[in-house]
Amino acid sequence: MRITLLGTGTSVGIPMIGCDCETCQSTDPRDQRLRTACHVQAGDLSIVIDTGPDFRVQMLRARIRQVDAVLWTHHHYDHVMGLDDLRPYFFDCCAPIACFAHRGSIPVLRQIFPYVWEERSIYMGTLDLRAAEMPFNVGSRYGSPDSIQVTPIEVLHGQMPMNGYRIGNFAYITDVSHIPEAEYAKLQDLDLLVLDALRPRKHPHHFSITEAVDAASAIGAKQTVFIHMSHQVLHARESAQLPKTMQFGYDGMILSSS
Ligand SMILES: [Zn+2]
Ligand SMILES: [Zn+2]
Repeated sequence: MRITLLGTGTSVGIPMIGCDCETCQSTDPRDQRLRTACHVQAGDLSIVIDTGPDFRVQMLRARIRQVDAVLWTHHHYDHVMGLDDLRPYFFDCCAPIACFAHRGSIPVLRQIFPYVWEERSIYMGTLDLRAAEMPFNVGSRYGSPDSIQVTPIEVLHGQMPMNGYRIGNFAYITDVSHIPEAEYAKLQDLDLLVLDALRPRKHPHHFSITEAVDAASAIGAKQTVFIHMSHQVLHARESAQLPKTMQFGYDGMILSSS
């Protein structure tokens, strides 16, 4: 599996509008972060995790020409607002895209984009939106026999339950402040864990760096890559304090996992 980090920034993006801090002025490309999103290529299957406001630019940059499935982690602005830019993926393939979200996000997605699910919408029948609770299979829209299992991991973002996802030996958990004990069983034997680590200081809705390192140590993936960083994370400076198997991600980073 090839995993591409399409964006690794917190909700405002880095640089943040109007900010002159060291990170927002940094010339290190690893400090320029679009909103957090991810692409997974598993054989012929192309899976997108979240479609934030930078979705269009991210798909162009990564040259992703096909999408078989979309997995939404939750319905906050920085993870869903690019939904409409899925339209080009119907121009040469009209089969519906399998879309999965936490059950709590489904009514909100319908409310944010009412026209998508309306009769006679240009979208009609193209987004097949389902609640992701039990493990499910994703297949191809383009005729490939490949299929892959996805396991939802239910975590807390502040008080709100939302989904992380495991595909093979790769797990992706963004916007998390607590991983319930029972979910750890689904996170064993990982090659790669991609995990929220907002900033050095505590935050009610996100892991701080210390909390992320603690959770990652408990999970024990061979490699852990942190995402959703704020401008309080200067890549080169904050990287120095991480354990050997852990690092901060950056936009365009390509990772692999079985
Ligand atoms: Zn977010
Ligand atoms: Zn969020």
